[in-house]
Amino acid sequence: MSNFVWCHGPSCHTNDTQDRLRGVKGSKVLRTKKVQQTQWNSGERRNFYNYFCSNGCYNDFANKHIQEIVAIAPRTEALETPVNVEKVQDTTYTGHSYTRVEISRVDNDIG
Ligand SMILES: [Zn+2]
Repeated sequence: MSNFVWCHGPSCHTNDTQDRLRGVKGSKVLRTKKVQQTQWNSGERRNFYNYFCSNGCYNDFANKHIQEIVAIAPRTEALETPVNVEKVQDTTYTGHSYTRVEISRVDNDIG
C-alpha cells in the first residue's frame, strides 16, 4: 500500500524529467511527482518536504501564493532579540591584531 500526496508545486508537472513521464507511446504526459508519507516524516517531524518534491517546487508555491501566506501571520512590527555586544582583541593567523565585535544572546532564563 502506498501512502503519498501529490507535490503541491504549481509547475511540478512541467519539469521535463524522466521520473515524471507517464503514459503510452503517442500519449505521453509529464505528471506531478508523488511525495511519499512515511513514519519518518509524520507527526512532529512533518514539514514542507511532506508536500513538495523539491525546494524548487516549494519556492514556486510560496511565490505564487505569497499574499495568502503572509496573511496567515502578518508582521506588523519588528521583533527584537536582546544581545550583549563586546569588542574583542584578536589575532589573525599571520599575526596581525585586530578588533572584532562579538554578539551574544542575553540569557533571559536567570532568576
Ligand atoms: Zn514537485
